[in-house]
Amino acid sequence: MSDPAIEVSNLCKNYGPVQAVDRISFTVQPGELVGFLGPNGAGKSTTMRILTTIMPASSGIAKVFGLDVMDYSMEVRRKLGFLPESVPIYPEMRVEEYLQYRAKLKEVDRSKRNSRIEYCLEKCRIREVRRRLIGTLSKGYRQRVGLADALIADPPLLILDEPTAGLDPVQIRETLHTIRELAGSHTVLLSTHILPEVEASCDRVIIINRGTLHWDGKLSELSGTMPSLELELRGP
Ligand code: ATP
Repeated sequence: MSDPAIEVSNLCKNYGPVQAVDRISFTVQPGELVGFLGPNGAGKSTTMRILTTIMPASSGIAKVFGLDVMDYSMEVRRKLGFLPESVPIYPEMRVEEYLQYRAKLKEVDRSKRNSRIEYCLEKCRIREVRRRLIGTLSKGYRQRVGLADALIADPPLLILDEPTAGLDPVQIRETLHTIRELAGSHTVLLSTHILPEVEASCDRVIIINRGTLHWDGKLSELSGTMPSLELELRGP
């Protein structure tokens, strides 16, 4: 049997006295599209930063395709594309230029770079802004440029931290449509704090609150089980 795409076991992270992640365990199998939910401050970004090797865990295990994220950080980075909550992109660069730069940095084979960029421009629906300076783009377009960056090296796993935050309803629909398309060929862990966003997209969700795991299963079985947290996630 193949290794899980993600395996987290008794993961903990504290920032000084703040226990941001407290003994979380879950797995994501290859090919799954899993929603990672929790209210603000639940510990989603922290878990994702550990998985993407940006920061070390305080204790516990985190593996990506069987590789410990601490011991094999370079290999792990090659296996995943990460869309962080705030996309760190360069306002003075044109979209196309930025993707060229990122493809080179991520060691995409020179002969494949242009076709890869075309694929990402198309998939993320940013072809029409390819020559625009990133600094002049709307938040929705910048998020899609960030998604194209996550995709550029064709990693088997995509970790997307609140890709719809700050977008209007039309942009949210478009972004979720793109993510569903990508899920056909990638494993996806998608974080959000809005339950309806994942209702139509993911058939399994992991819910954390105040650093601890509250639910890991199908959304259809959630209703009635945790009415208060569900209400919090749904928003007013
Ligand atoms: P959000 O949806 O608001 O991004 P989240 O679920 O991603 O929330 P985290 O950003 O992981 O949650 O934060 C978890 C907890 O850790 C919060 O209490 C937060 O204030 C705290 N925290 C996060 N980053 C730091 C940091 N660099 N230093 C200190 N505390 C932090």
